[in-house]
Amino acid sequence: MEVPLCVLVTGGAGYIGSHTVLELLLDGYKTVVVDNLNNSSEIAIARVRQLAGDHAHNLSFYKMDIRDKPALEQLFASTKFDAVIHFAGLKAVGESVEKPLMYFDNNIIGTITLLEVMAAYGCNKLVFSSSATVYGWPKEVPCTEEFPLSAANPYGRTKLMIEDMCRDIFASNSDWKFILLRYFNPIGAHPSGLIGEDPHGIPNNLMPFIQQVAVGRQPALKVFGTDYSTKDGTGVRDYIHVVDLANGHIAALKKLFDPTIGCEVYNLGTGKGTSVLELVSAFEKASGKKIPLVKTGRRPGDAEIVYASTAKAERELNWKAEHGIEDMCRDQWIWACNNPYGYQTEKTQ
Ligand code: NAD
Ligand code: UDP
Repeated sequence: MEVPLCVLVTGGAGYIGSHTVLELLLDGYKTVVVDNLNNSSEIAIARVRQLAGDHAHNLSFYKMDIRDKPALEQLFASTKFDAVIHFAGLKAVGESVEKPLMYFDNNIIGTITLLEVMAAYGCNKLVFSSSATVYGWPKEVPCTEEFPLSAANPYGRTKLMIEDMCRDIFASNSDWKFILLRYFNPIGAHPSGLIGEDPHGIPNNLMPFIQQVAVGRQPALKVFGTDYSTKDGTGVRDYIHVVDLANGHIAALKKLFDPTIGCEVYNLGTGKGTSVLELVSAFEKASGKKIPLVKTGRRPGDAEIVYASTAKAERELNWKAEHGIEDMCRDQWIWACNNPYGYQTEKTQ
């Protein structure tokens, strides 16, 4: 019998990580999650186990900070990893502006520690969670992987620095294999309603905020800017169903074992732009809830229109997003109805 490949997933208890871990398990991979639970709950891991059914025995979880080098070394000494999918990181743009050092420490030092331990234990395949934020304020759309890169804030700078680190490491030693995935805007949840996004505090992103208005945790949605040069004046983004995104990681992981791969970048989006008002309207339809709106000025730093060119991922990863905005809103609503307070059982705020 063939021995299954073993994948280390950092940040695997988080939103995108938990959905990806489930798809890995269902695909037959042995999966080891490390997460410090800074922005997640171990309940997500228990729910993934439940959804994975017969495959659940292939999942191990360690509460661990990736900056804890001795702990990571111990893990690599006891388990041979064929590849790593690296989600662990802080991701709130506003917080990164207020606390840049915290972001450099967590995201940069964390990644350096991980790469050093991988190198020491002969594991040289990594999939990294980058972001469309590295396109800054794109001059045109759709964004292709060749667009010029820039950082609009410390969070974005950590993504760009890590991408650059991977490119430099590969340039110095072509045994490494890196796939840098630039996510557009993941939303939605697993259709079971068992796993989904559970932001701590007041959400910064559009969809989790809409969800909290719908379940009565927030009174109204502030629409940041109604004077953009877009179809209805509101900002346009490329929303992608988190399950499609998770499957993009499986495609990238398979690609890492292609002998021709070096250090490659792929956009993961749908290639379609949706405005704030269009997303609100689709969510209202899916949920039957009215979302009260307060139209306010632009949020500083926001881009006008961002959506992906998906051609490279389709061509080289043989992957394409399958779900539309209606599916994303439906699954978001199932998650919200089953877990109005996320993984917490009771209202604490
Ligand atoms: P998330 O916060 O739900 O998941 C990140 C996980 O990493 C959390 O479970 C957190 O506890 C863990 N973590 C953070 N620092 C850690 C550390 N030092 N050691 C161990 N664990 C640590 O976020 P997400 O939305 O699932 O995002 C996953 C990755 O994708 C992040 O790197 C994020 O920057 C990137 N990304 C997210 C989006 C998005 O819109 N959600 C878009 C582009 C890129
Ligand atoms: N947005 C909004 N109200 C909110 C949060 C976001 O109008 O409470 C808008 C924001 O200006 C942008 C879009 O929704 O045009 C997506 O914002 P999000 O923060 O989710 O993603 P990002 O801007 O990082 O791509």
